[in-house]
Amino acid sequence: MRRCPRCTYPLMLFVHEGEELDHCRRCGGNFIDPGEAARLFGGHAHPDAWRESFAARSIGPTELKCPKDRSPMEAFEVEFEKEKVEVDLCAKCAGLWLDGREGFALQRIVSNATSHAEARESGAIKPGVASYVFQIFTGFPIEVWNPVKRTPVVVYTLLAMLVAIFMAQVTLMPNEEAWIAQYGGFFFLVPSEFIRGEHLWTVITCAFFHAGFMHLAGNAYFLWIFGDNVEDELGPVRFITLYVISMISGSLLHFAFNANSDIPMLGASGAIAGVMGAYLVLFPRVKLYVMIVVFRLRLGVYWYLGFWIVYQLVMFASGGEGVAWLAHAGGFFAGAICAWIFKGATDHETKVAV
Ligand SMILES: [Zn+2]
Ligand SMILES: [Zn+2]
Repeated sequence: MRRCPRCTYPLMLFVHEGEELDHCRRCGGNFIDPGEAARLFGGHAHPDAWRESFAARSIGPTELKCPKDRSPMEAFEVEFEKEKVEVDLCAKCAGLWLDGREGFALQRIVSNATSHAEARESGAIKPGVASYVFQIFTGFPIEVWNPVKRTPVVVYTLLAMLVAIFMAQVTLMPNEEAWIAQYGGFFFLVPSEFIRGEHLWTVITCAFFHAGFMHLAGNAYFLWIFGDNVEDELGPVRFITLYVISMISGSLLHFAFNANSDIPMLGASGAIAGVMGAYLVLFPRVKLYVMIVVFRLRLGVYWYLGFWIVYQLVMFASGGEGVAWLAHAGGFFAGAICAWIFKGATDHETKVAV
């Protein structure tokens, strides 16, 4: 006999809209199989659908035991706009425990969240005027729809570090040129020093400094919009690994083609180009709003990033100065390769977990 995981009262078989539920008459809770959830509340109420969606996040194991197989259950918070509900999911049989009226709340939330996502994706809901003005002035792209399931802790930490270092730079060195002449080689990558084996750590440290507010703002923006999803998909440890490998690859490719240069290189662009390469591998079907003069177009991310990488290579080939084009290219390809390798590993993990 199945017992209520909340109050241990025997569960009663109950038929609701042709589906059998295990119902607790004492606390009003219900146990339902995954297939039944989908039939009762709509396809998106199937745990596989909401567990993979932005609307649900795990809040950890609970004290409840599955009434069917006594396995420990995991609590999920399913949330959209102002409404949220906490449901318990069995890790073994994917059965759901819903207290009281949680079933109706779950049904409303998943159907609202799903129709909102579909409206954004199809272009029925458009971004507002403020974002249009922002795009006109900056030329930056915005994502049509690619929400994250978890807070991107590493991305936020990196952004805070880049801003803090820039603030320190601005306040501590009023005379920038004198400061660069004295200490620059210690932090920035100077190829002619690197080739003599001096300041080898600058392949990393150079990526934490920026040469001006716009340089920082551009890099920070791209890290923010692309990095959150890449971190969400790969997890923090793989994301940091990808970021550092892209950073070093960018620095080294720049060095390899400018080995005699005295010009210091700085900026997180190489590492962030790696995040962009990874985004292309992980989310090839996502669309961006891209500004062409005054026209806002919805383009596949492969058009935008494909044009971006070709532009970097063409500018390098034509000898464009002042920008480390090859640091961008080196970072981009390193990030794409890392993402491709890590993606295989995360797919495998998912299969093992299921
Ligand atoms: Zn009960
Ligand atoms: Zn179970």
